[in-house]
Amino acid sequence: MAAFGTVFMPKMSCSEFNGSEWSQPSLVASDQLTLHPAAHVLHYSSTCFEGLKAFRHDDGRVKIFRMDRNVARMAQSSRLLSLPAFDEAMLSDMIVETVRAFADEVPEAPGAMYIRPTHIGTEPAVGKAAAPSATSLLYVLLSPVGDYFASGASALRLLIEEEGMRCAPHMGMVKSGGNYASAMQPTLEAKAHYQADQVLFCPNGDVQETGAANFLLIDGNEVITKPLNSSFLHGVTRDSLLTLAKDLGMTVTERDFTVTELLERAAHDDCEAALSGTAAVLAPVGTLIHQGQEHRVGSGEPGPKAQALRKALNDIQWGHAEDRYGWLT
Ligand code: PMP
Repeated sequence: MAAFGTVFMPKMSCSEFNGSEWSQPSLVASDQLTLHPAAHVLHYSSTCFEGLKAFRHDDGRVKIFRMDRNVARMAQSSRLLSLPAFDEAMLSDMIVETVRAFADEVPEAPGAMYIRPTHIGTEPAVGKAAAPSATSLLYVLLSPVGDYFASGASALRLLIEEEGMRCAPHMGMVKSGGNYASAMQPTLEAKAHYQADQVLFCPNGDVQETGAANFLLIDGNEVITKPLNSSFLHGVTRDSLLTLAKDLGMTVTERDFTVTELLERAAHDDCEAALSGTAAVLAPVGTLIHQGQEHRVGSGEPGPKAQALRKALNDIQWGHAEDRYGWLT
């Protein structure tokens, strides 16, 4: 099986902003793009993207999960990066039309079609280091993906990082390329020195998120996670899981918490922790590495609460439970 996100459908939907208006979106070849070497995005990181999925239900129909949320987040990212504004309905139509064109290629559950809308500043203008790109390109790529847990869900190891940050503190809520580039070095070092899978960024002891997922602490019947602010990405999976946790009779607490509290709670026998995101849904965390010391989270193995939450979400995505919140398009 090819690595996640390395196989693409041959066409993508594309629309260009020429400085005054958006072109009519059309399907174009997805394996090439002509850009001027001075394009704004290549120098000043004027880029944002989204990640969402379409699922094939047992009756053969294809459904896109929470498209409105991802489109709204993309519009917000574009705004905060001073990229040209686009009509959210236009991007929604581009997503639906691209998925429709390749509906036959959407894998059956537990696979899915990963959808990657992307927005880049294209103006050739290296003088615009402190000014926005006047032109841009918006496109929607599709990549069929398998089950993230095909090899079995082993619990992840996270390195707690209290000094470095994932990105600039006011840009965490923006899904921008630059944020990912800046989180890479700490993650590579954590892998090399601690065999950690990911870094849990906790600047000054404030537990935030990892390089590509939100962090949920599940202590007994309570789910604890950081409240929304500009410092981290407002995950659509996080929002969905918090809703479903309440349905399952769990208490949901959105509040700041420290590394000290996290490690205290992790020692509880029935404590669990997990990373939430579109790709992995909810991945169990078994070990936290802090100041060179390893701390087991609960049993250290994937726990029943995270598994129940993941199942509740998959059931809606795969059409095995009623879409009672209208999350499917
Ligand atoms: N945080 C970061 C930094 C991410 O890249 C992602 C993945 N998009 C998430 C959180 C989870 O967001 P979502 O649930 O919307 O996929």
